[in-house]
Amino acid sequence: MLLNFIFLNKINDLERRFAEFDYIKKMGEFYKFWIKKNFSKSFDIQCDQMIVHERGFLRRLDVDSLLEDHRKRGEEIYHFYLSFFRPLWTDCIGCEGYYAENFGMVLWDEPDDKNDVSFLAEKNCTKVSHELAHELLRQEGNKQYMELVHDVWDKHLFASLSYEHYNSNFEKTTQDKALFSTINTSEF
Ligand SMILES: [Zn+2]
Repeated sequence: MLLNFIFLNKINDLERRFAEFDYIKKMGEFYKFWIKKNFSKSFDIQCDQMIVHERGFLRRLDVDSLLEDHRKRGEEIYHFYLSFFRPLWTDCIGCEGYYAENFGMVLWDEPDDKNDVSFLAEKNCTKVSHELAHELLRQEGNKQYMELVHDVWDKHLFASLSYEHYNSNFEKTTQDKALFSTINTSEF
């Protein structure tokens, strides 16, 4: 099974956002580990950029165009889009994300400081874990795949439950040393 992360990047932003794509490649390897640990599934990981340069295409870009891209690339592959736009509507509060069968997307926020790993971990990596959890629970046949994730997510947002933090060796660590942060999976 292949999990393909796709970073949407406007052509004029390529150089400026290079560090983020570098982080995304590391994050992909981390999620290979995280998914195996929490959902006992083995994925190969691929990370690509979708370079957006056509003004017309940019105007039309929405969840439907990403779903169409997913179909063209192959529906047997799990495509996960890290996007610069938010979906028109979402069930996932604080995530600006969307998921469907073998499909995920989140709004990927650009940090003010491109080397701000803490921002990438707490702001973006966490949202990715949220959408992955929905789809992986669904693939397991868990009928509570929506509620389970949102119950925990609400505790992160409103009840000061902290995220899970991992260092570059994918070991649990504290927030200040974290390279990756995820939803708390202990209640799944
Ligand atoms: Zn959600």
